[in-house]
Amino acid sequence: MGLEVGPNTPGFRPVDSRWCTKESCFLRTEAADAFEAMARAAQAEGIALRIVSATRTHADQKRIWEAKWRNRSGSAVDKALDILNYSSMPGTSRHHWGTDFDLNSLDPAYFASGMGLSEYQWLQNHAAEFGFFQPYTVESSQAAGGYREERWHWSYAPLSGPMLRAYLLWVDYQDLPRFQGVEVAEELQVFDRYVRAVSVEGQP
Ligand SMILES: [Zn+2]
Repeated sequence: MGLEVGPNTPGFRPVDSRWCTKESCFLRTEAADAFEAMARAAQAEGIALRIVSATRTHADQKRIWEAKWRNRSGSAVDKALDILNYSSMPGTSRHHWGTDFDLNSLDPAYFASGMGLSEYQWLQNHAAEFGFFQPYTVESSQAAGGYREERWHWSYAPLSGPMLRAYLLWVDYQDLPRFQGVEVAEELQVFDRYVRAVSVEGQP
């Protein structure tokens, strides 16, 4: 199955570099347009939104996953469950879709007070006006296991809603790319407990 998508896939474009912390930052064109409109509106109100990470390929996710894998001990299940608090197995990340991105910081504490909290409150009040929602919330985490709350991760609903439905219909465990720990993906039911476990707004 040709699941690999990335910045070179047709239909993607780079987000204007002034809204990105890295030099390359790609989204699907419709999501990039909506994000730039949101970032401009936020800026007009003194809120700076910068993408820390947008579209990631399977290879990108494998690097992230395996770097964490090497730093952990215990059984494969223990290691995978620990990493899965905040990171997806390659092939199961919404970052592959071109509809999702992380904003400003990957540190939960950053968004708990001060400037980070103001940014988060702005997003809570306005992101939906531009089509965005927060897939990983306290509630989504409590409902099905799932990832911890991620106040930095936002998703473009008009594209990611249909993509989640298609993903859950068509992708199976045999379709996952090769990476360390892939053998426990099915035992951990990562499609049901992680990919499907999103906030109410993102549910298929
Ligand atoms: Zn993310």
